[in-house]
Amino acid sequence: MSARHAVAGVLALGALTLGTCPARPAPPFDGAAALRHLERVVALGPRPAGSPASARTRAYILGELRAASITARVEPFETDTPHGRLTMANVVAVLPGRRPDVILIGGHYDTKWFREITFVGANDGGSSTALLIELARRLRDRPRAYTYWIVWFDGEEARESWTAADSLYGSRRMAAELARTRRLPRAVIVADMIGDRDLGIRREASSTRWLTETLWASAARLGHGGFFLGDALGVEDDHAPFLRLGVPATLLIDFDFPPWHTSEDTLDKVSAQSLAVVGRVLLDALPAIEETLTRTGSGPRP
Ligand SMILES: [Zn+2]
Repeated sequence: MSARHAVAGVLALGALTLGTCPARPAPPFDGAAALRHLERVVALGPRPAGSPASARTRAYILGELRAASITARVEPFETDTPHGRLTMANVVAVLPGRRPDVILIGGHYDTKWFREITFVGANDGGSSTALLIELARRLRDRPRAYTYWIVWFDGEEARESWTAADSLYGSRRMAAELARTRRLPRAVIVADMIGDRDLGIRREASSTRWLTETLWASAARLGHGGFFLGDALGVEDDHAPFLRLGVPATLLIDFDFPPWHTSEDTLDKVSAQSLAVVGRVLLDALPAIEETLTRTGSGPRP
């Protein structure tokens, strides 16, 4: 156990002792099922945007959605990269609600391309891919005021080094297209690298504060506060293109991950428990997020 988690554990215990965590069961989210999805996509090998393994990952996601009777669409696009013109594709699962306004929950399914190493991205790419499949299944079975789009973004990773032009290919494309057609979501939540078995998620500094605080409040209520840390860190990810357009957006990321972008980002670094913690916190927070959106009318409307 790291010093960080030792301290966080004590804080969580203190909160429980003070009775600030009312008993409410965690929403059902099967961490073991999410881990099985993760194992299957990692078995496909490195999955950089535009590769045959990326197409197989997409087919796996679509197959799982089809088996769960969830409607999905693939949105392919061509884009220039430092490695030439590539075809990429976002995958969007649609869960209609009582109203057409959309809450988008997303993450990337590509893994970073490397010339020198075999990078299977169990946490970076694999964890978000897997979490979203199980999340879609769970959301399908709940009453929803809002319509949910579960989005697997392609091309989050830079082909070479991170720049405004070489990164976030899928989310930049989708945000621009939705802005152009005036169909922007009311809120965006992105998850990335949340499978780390030594889970510790910091607040993302540029994210919309009330969205972040709603997630942290759910974590505390469910007794998972020890994994959701007090300090903040700035990380640019697939939420950023939506934030720039004025859409409330937040990012859940554990960026304190020593195997990041190394050949060591493998299955032994992730756990079903971490996936379950993040899945349950997300599911628990959504009613409060819907309530805030309805009450404040915040965010762009279609
Ligand atoms: Zn990465």
